[in-house]
Amino acid sequence: MWSSICGGAVLLVASIGALDGTPFWGEHAAAFAVFAALLIATELKPIPSLTDDTELTASWAFAFTLLFIAPLAGALMAVAIAPFLADVRRGKRVDRSLFNAAQFMLSLALGGMVGSLIEDVSLVGHGGSVTLRWLVAVAVACAVGFAANSVFISLAIAFHQGLPVTEMLRRSLGINLEMDGLLLALAPIFVVIGLQALVLVPLLLLTVWIIFRSASLALRNKHDATHDQLTGSANRRMFEDHAQLIVDAAKASNSSFALVHIDLDGFKGINDRLGHHFGDLVLVEVARRLREGDRSTDFSARLGGDEFALLLADVPDAAIASALAERVLRTICEPLSVEGVPLTIGASMGVALFPRHGEDIDQLLHHADIAMYEAKQGGGGIRLFDGVDDAPGPRRLGLLTELTNAIEHGELSLAYQPKVDVDSGRVSTVEALLRWEHPEHGPINPGWFMPQAEQTDLITPLTDHVIELALAQCRHWADDGIAVQIAVNVSARNLHDLRFPARVGDALERHGLDPSVIEIEITENSVMEDPLRSAAVLAQLRRIGVGLAIDDFGTGYSSLSVLRELEVDRIKIDRSFVTNLASNDGDLTIVRSVIELGHNLGLRTVAEGVETIGALQILRDIGCDEIQGYLLSVPLSADLVTPILRRGHISLDELRPLGAGS
Ligand code: C2E
Ligand code: CA
Ligand code: CA
Repeated sequence: MWSSICGGAVLLVASIGALDGTPFWGEHAAAFAVFAALLIATELKPIPSLTDDTELTASWAFAFTLLFIAPLAGALMAVAIAPFLADVRRGKRVDRSLFNAAQFMLSLALGGMVGSLIEDVSLVGHGGSVTLRWLVAVAVACAVGFAANSVFISLAIAFHQGLPVTEMLRRSLGINLEMDGLLLALAPIFVVIGLQALVLVPLLLLTVWIIFRSASLALRNKHDATHDQLTGSANRRMFEDHAQLIVDAAKASNSSFALVHIDLDGFKGINDRLGHHFGDLVLVEVARRLREGDRSTDFSARLGGDEFALLLADVPDAAIASALAERVLRTICEPLSVEGVPLTIGASMGVALFPRHGEDIDQLLHHADIAMYEAKQGGGGIRLFDGVDDAPGPRRLGLLTELTNAIEHGELSLAYQPKVDVDSGRVSTVEALLRWEHPEHGPINPGWFMPQAEQTDLITPLTDHVIELALAQCRHWADDGIAVQIAVNVSARNLHDLRFPARVGDALERHGLDPSVIEIEITENSVMEDPLRSAAVLAQLRRIGVGLAIDDFGTGYSSLSVLRELEVDRIKIDRSFVTNLASNDGDLTIVRSVIELGHNLGLRTVAEGVETIGALQILRDIGCDEIQGYLLSVPLSADLVTPILRRGHISLDELRPLGAGS
C-alpha cells in the first residue's frame, strides 16, 4: 500500500515539474473545469454501494477525458483530489484514501503512456483532428488504465482478505467492466464535444445517466441474489461462493481455516412470545454483530432462519479456532435491547477445520452442523467436530426427506410397551412407540427424529401412519381374541389440525373398531401452544369416544384448571420424577401430590419410567393406579408383546430388578 502511495506522489510531483510554465488545466480551461467538476461530483456521490466492495462511479470516463485534453499534471491532480475528498467524506482511513488516489493516478498515467506509444493521446486536445490511429491509441490507453486499476484493487483485496489473487482479478474485472467499461467508450466523444461544443455536454450526461441506471439495477439484482433481505448479510449462496474462494486460497498457501455453524438458542421463544417483529430485530442485530467482528479476513452469512455461518481465515489449530469462536459467542450473547426491551440470546456453535475435517465446503458445512447439533443437545456453547460422522444416524436436513420415504418403504414400525395395573398386574393399555429401521443407519431413536418432524408438516402423515399401524395391529389382536387398549402419542400440530379427529374416526370405522380401543397421549405443552384450538380438537376426539391421557405430566406448565377442562382419563407422571423415586424425597413429594390431585379430579394416574422394585412399592403405597417402565417390560415388537397380552397380566411379585436377568 505504501509503495503505491509513494509511487503516486513521485508521479504527481514529476508531472507538475514537467508542466514547465503551462497552466495545469492546459489550453481548454472551460472544458477542464467542466470535466474536473463532473469527476469530483461523481466520486462524491456514487451510486450507493450495493455490493460489498463495489461502488459505481462514472469517474473513469471523466478522468480519461481530462488526460486527453489537459497536461498529465492536471489530470492527475483532479484524479488524486476526487477520490480523496470522497473517501475522507465517507470517513475512510486516511491511508486507504491515499492508496485509492495513488492507484487511480498510477493506472491513468500508465494507460496514457502505453496509448501514446501508438499515437499521442492528447493529439485532439492539441488541435489535431480525430483519426483512426488516435482512436486506437485512446482505446488502448483506456483498456490498459482500466486493467491496471483492476489489478491494483484485486491485489489489495486479495492481500487484505487473504483470497486468491487471480480469482479476485477475474471478478473485479467482471464487475467493473459492466459499468466503467461501457462508460469508458464515451471518453473520446467527451473529448470532441468538450473541445468543440461544450454546451452539448448535458445531453451526453443523459446517456451517462442511462448507463448508470441500468448498471445500478444490475448491481441491485446481483446484490439481492447474494444477500439476505432481512439482515443484509451474505446469504447461503454467497457464503458457499466465498467459502470456495477461501478453500482455493488455503489450498494454494497450504494454510487452514475454520468454518463455524451457528444456531441461536431460545430464538423460537422470542419469536413466539414477542412476535416476529422482535424476532426479526434480533436476527438483524446478531447479523450485525457477526459482520462487525474484529478480523477483516472473517466472513459471515445468514444461512436461513436463525442459522448463521462464519468463516475464520488462517486458523492453524483447534485451540485457536475455539478461542476465536469463544469470542464470537461472547459477542452474540451480549445483552441486547430491542425497542427498549432487554433481551439475551444464546447460541450453539459447531466448528469444523479445513483440511482436517473436510476438503470441500459441503463436507465442512455438514461436519460443523453435526458439531453444532451436539453443542445444542449439550445445552449450547461451542463444540469442535470430533471426527465422527456416523454416530446418531443421518443428519437433520436429509433426514426429514428420508423420513417421508420411510413411510412409503415400510421402514417404520411400532413397538408396544404395556401399562399395568399396580395392584393386579393386569395389562390395561399398550403404548405404541414409533420405530424407524433405517436401511443404512439402523434403528433411529424417535426421541431424536420426532422433535424435528414435529417442526414440519411431516408430522401429519406420520401420525396418520402411526394410527393406521396401531389400529391394524389392534384389529389383528381383536381377531385373535385379545382385547387391549392401544395408546398413541400425538404432537402439538395434530392438536391444531381441526380435521384430525375426523381422520381418527374414519380409521376406526375402516378397521371396524370401537373408539374406546384407542387412547391419545398428549403433552401439556402441546395443549398450551394453542389452547383454544387444542380444546376444540380434543372435544371432538372426546365426542367420538377415544380415550385421552396427558403425557409427561409435571414437565410442562399448564394451569391446573386446564386439566379439568380437558376431561382426560389419565395423567402420566413424567419419568424424570419416577425413576429415582426411592432415593429422592423431592420427587416423592411431587409424585404423591400429583396422584392426589389426579384422584381429586377423578383421573387415573400412571407412573412411567418405573425401573426398580423400590419405586414400584412406593407407587403402590401412595396409591398410584398404573405403572409403566423397563421394570415391567421394555417396548416390544408386536410378536413379543402378544404372549403377554394373551396372558393379560404381568406378575408383579415375580419381578426382578433390572439387570438381574429380567
Ligand atoms: P414418551 O411418550 O414419553 O415415551 C416413553 C419413552 O420412554 C419411550 O422412549 C420408552 O422407550 C421410554 N421408556 C419406557 N420405559 C422406560 C423406563 O423405565 N426408563 C426409561 N429411562 N425410559 C423408558 P422412545 O420409544 O424412545 O420414545 C421417545 C419419545 O418419542 C416418546 O416419549 C414420544 O414423545 C416420542 N414418540 C415415540 N413414538 C411416537 C409417535 O408415534 N408419535 C409421536 N408424536 N411421538 C412419539
Ligand atoms: Ca407417551
Ligand atoms: Ca412420557
